[in-house]
Amino acid sequence: MWLQVSLLCLSFLTLASHSQAEDRASLHRSNDPAGRCHYTFTVESPEEASCPGGSGKPETDGVLSRLTLLEALVSRLIAGVDTDTRTEVGAKGEEGLQEAYSQVIGERNQLQQDKERLNRQVQELQRRVAELSQEAESLRQKPCEQSHSSGGAQHENSHRPANDPAYDFSNGAYQEMKAEVTEVPASHLIPEGNHNFTGCGELLSVGDPVLHRKADGITGKYGVWLQDPEPQGPLYTNKTVWRIDTVGKDVRQLFAYEDMKQFSRGFPMKVLVLPEPVESTGATMYRGSFYYQRKRSRTLIRYDLASESLASRIELPHAGFHGQYPYSWGGYTDIDLAVDEQGLWAIYSTSKAKGAIVISQLDLESLEVKKSWETNIRKNTVANAFMVCGHLYTVASYTAPNTTINYVFDTATGKGRAVTVPFKNKYRYNSMVDYNHIQRKLYAWDNFHMVTYDIRLGRASHGSS
Ligand code: CA
Repeated sequence: MWLQVSLLCLSFLTLASHSQAEDRASLHRSNDPAGRCHYTFTVESPEEASCPGGSGKPETDGVLSRLTLLEALVSRLIAGVDTDTRTEVGAKGEEGLQEAYSQVIGERNQLQQDKERLNRQVQELQRRVAELSQEAESLRQKPCEQSHSSGGAQHENSHRPANDPAYDFSNGAYQEMKAEVTEVPASHLIPEGNHNFTGCGELLSVGDPVLHRKADGITGKYGVWLQDPEPQGPLYTNKTVWRIDTVGKDVRQLFAYEDMKQFSRGFPMKVLVLPEPVESTGATMYRGSFYYQRKRSRTLIRYDLASESLASRIELPHAGFHGQYPYSWGGYTDIDLAVDEQGLWAIYSTSKAKGAIVISQLDLESLEVKKSWETNIRKNTVANAFMVCGHLYTVASYTAPNTTINYVFDTATGKGRAVTVPFKNKYRYNSMVDYNHIQRKLYAWDNFHMVTYDIRLGRASHGSS
């Protein structure tokens, strides 16, 4: 547009200068660029040789210059406005976009990281769940071991492996704890003026264990050893010592030693083979007969030492056996035979007595029950028992180095009560305790060690409660 305006002006100026140079007065006619006819009358000035400002060429140059300037200016303005706008908007937009893009990218990366972290947590939780499920399943399949020693102990015991010392030991260890906690305080026994007392009476004290022999092999862990208080001679005397190692599946060997010296040296003079295998550590000896419980049965056997033959065989009525009513040690100590001043006794329990100790006096020949008593102390809460002068005494613990005789039952009155007579398990695993009324000693087998305890009896009668 600006270009058109400048050309129109330029043509006027050009026409004017041309006609002035041609005539003094002249009429000039011509078409304008739009095609219209223009008439121009030209007259020479009388006063002026020329128009002020020269021939007009410089003026044209000036106009041209100005036009050029204007064009340049206009071009610059147009370009400037466009460029500025475009640059500013573009830069701002690009910058904003870049910023937004960066922000989005950042957020996307953050979300990606969160997702990965959560995935890891899910995997970890799944792994834990799998582990816990596995553990729960294995616990469900595992039998509850503690039930062996609780209320159902007797029945559980009957299913355990035969003569498994390891089992007996662990089981016994638990029961041992029960024996300790059920230990009860007792009335006082005053041993005054009883030092030379040789008759029957209450147990006043038990001395320290005296060692006679230590077993060599593993089969000597527990067993029975004893002397016949009233031997029938002449083959065996009151010096003869007897021993059976009861660890093993088929216990039949009865070792005879000439005397305590040979016994201590470990030189037997004879080995008798019993007609039936022996169960546990409850055997005893009296007047030339060896009395014992047949393995895995309530059968009692009398074996005649002189003739080396089975003399009597009988079932002890209702007696629990093979782990039904053992002592706290376990070891199938269900039926414990004992001898004292008044004869032969069986210490055991029955289902009718519900695990309480039953005492029966037995006929020496036939082994028939002559009379029975039911006590109020549970057999599996005590470590062992023995008879003295018709009184039953129980040992509280078979492992505690310093334990007690904690209960006495008098068959004369049919009543029992708690007592506290100190007793030592020097070797911490006492599997047998029996009384010899002639020697007036307790014989015990304490963890490979064959020991005796001196005891003191007293006249003092404290009455039963
Ligand atoms: Ca005993």
